[in-house]
Amino acid sequence: MGDTFKQRILVVDDEPSVRGSLAGLLNDAGYDVITAEHGFDALLQLRRAPPPDVIISDLNMPQMSGFEFLSVVRRRFPEIPVVAVSGAYESGDCVPGGVIADAFYAKGRHHPEQLLRTVGELIQTSAARAINHHRQSAPVWIPRNGKDSKGVPYIVLTCTECLRSFPLSVMQEGVQEIQQTPCLFCTSPVRYIIDFSLDVFSPRHDITAEPGGE
Ligand SMILES: [Zn+2]
Repeated sequence: MGDTFKQRILVVDDEPSVRGSLAGLLNDAGYDVITAEHGFDALLQLRRAPPPDVIISDLNMPQMSGFEFLSVVRRRFPEIPVVAVSGAYESGDCVPGGVIADAFYAKGRHHPEQLLRTVGELIQTSAARAINHHRQSAPVWIPRNGKDSKGVPYIVLTCTECLRSFPLSVMQEGVQEIQQTPCLFCTSPVRYIIDFSLDVFSPRHDITAEPGGE
């Protein structure tokens, strides 16, 4: 801990310019800022350093999307309030459905002052929020990833205990409820929800459909 008491904010965004401007804004407001390029990077930092007071995370990032990252944070660091950031939603001030966050900041439409106000409020109310976060055992929220060579859809889960990722075949499409599977590495149960409706993580690309069967 430093000589002065400064609250620390972890900013997670794959765009260097966004990271830089958010860090500058928060620094000017008197916060200590650490940054990460994507979810994996952020998790490494969370394991290394004392936890930040607030996490601000983009939702659309390579390696590990913000959705997945925030769901791991909620399970693993339930005491840290989080702000989800995205340019891909039209949902006013509300946290979009399926996103495990305490607040939402719409890139390009909200003003920086609003983000600062949100961060300040989250810090003030973090103790009460932590109690709630501990009570909800948040499942891992994951987008559908793609299909394997046999055409079976799969997802990539991140274990909330050991933080390693592993693929899992999706046997039944369209099941949008909480499911559970043992971690491939440490066998801890991992709860998850597959969201088949949203695909903001990877823009839809035209896949030339394989002829049925093989
Ligand atoms: Zn594990």
